[in-house]
Amino acid sequence: MTITSFHPPRRTLMGPGPSDVNPRITEALSRPTIGHLDPEFIRMMDELKTLIQYAFKTQNRLTLPISAPGSAGMEACFANLVEEGDKVIVCINGVFGGRMKENVERFGGVPVVVESEWGRAVDPVKVEEALTEHPDAAILAFVHAETSTGALSDAETLCRLAKGHDCLTIVDTVTSLGGCELNIDQWGIDAVYSGSQKCLSCVPGLSPVSFSDAAIAKINGRKSKVKSWFLDMSLIMGYWGGEGKRAYHHTAPVNQLYALHEALCILQEEGLENAWERHALHHRALTAGLAAIGLEMLVPEKERLVQLNAVVIPEGVDDAAVRSQLLNAYNLEIGAGLGAFAGKVWRIGLMGYAASKSNVLSCLSALEAALLKQGYSFKAGESIKAASAIYA
Ligand SMILES: *Cc1c(COP(=O)(O)O)cnc(C)c1O
Repeated sequence: MTITSFHPPRRTLMGPGPSDVNPRITEALSRPTIGHLDPEFIRMMDELKTLIQYAFKTQNRLTLPISAPGSAGMEACFANLVEEGDKVIVCINGVFGGRMKENVERFGGVPVVVESEWGRAVDPVKVEEALTEHPDAAILAFVHAETSTGALSDAETLCRLAKGHDCLTIVDTVTSLGGCELNIDQWGIDAVYSGSQKCLSCVPGLSPVSFSDAAIAKINGRKSKVKSWFLDMSLIMGYWGGEGKRAYHHTAPVNQLYALHEALCILQEEGLENAWERHALHHRALTAGLAAIGLEMLVPEKERLVQLNAVVIPEGVDDAAVRSQLLNAYNLEIGAGLGAFAGKVWRIGLMGYAASKSNVLSCLSALEAALLKQGYSFKAGESIKAASAIYA
């Protein structure tokens, strides 16, 4: 068999990420590759830092994209901030909180787990209790937007509690960045990581991160070297140094970084707050449509993410059959449930470029067609009517 070029199908990506990529971004990827120490590249990287600061709403000097996906941004935060024996309060209300705990353990920290129900926000009362019970805790870690369940936690309140107990904060904003309110400096977040492929609608594989001065002070005061060479911020700072003195650390993924630069230019053109509002609008239309055909959301309204909608699969409806019909007949990808929610919920993403009126309406029509085939009883056309009423 002769293997020839790979040409993927054209899909509409309305799952938990990657999300639809704006064609402007794929065009940016195909621009000429230049050296990563080329003065023009370095100029682009300086702009990229400013753009990431804009998206995170931060003045943090140490703000950069890690050359690897969101999971590597997560590791970068824990590898640098957690030292042997550090007590870390880890909030778990879904899959990604569980990964934070794993990171704490692997880097020699001692996790104190605060469990909240899956599908709900992190409970600030439980966090306050844990902080009081463990006055020696060094760090509070939690996920702002739990993509596995569709729950949004109150990052501002959680960070204020941490500050009151002299704790640094590590916050996962992989799904929140660009999709809902996020305010690093005002909320006092010390270490934050995100991903390129969710609400920024860029190709996967980059993780914007940012560290406060307090976080940098902890890194600089470490008694032992960071256990990961690649993710050691003290080495990466040498490349990002700022005085025009760029030392080789690793070969930057040049073209992917053009793509992230383009994605953030698009965000800046739209305006960050406008992007948050756009995600909220399409969420309102989608959920009105789903409600009109009797589908229920997993997460209570006040704790719901707008960019990731967890929908309860009705009794008697075959999860896999519906998702494959959407994929095969409509080229539409929605997400399956994760962990405890496998087979029980669908996760419909409205992230970045995918958060559009045409996507909401075509998703609802395709879902109606698939549900009809499943024998689920509802009044056909009602979801489109309800969503259109929101747009009217
Ligand atoms: C997607 C996601 C990650 C992991 O990002 P990758 O780019 O897949 O490594 C981490 N946390 C949350 C909340 C996510 O949604």
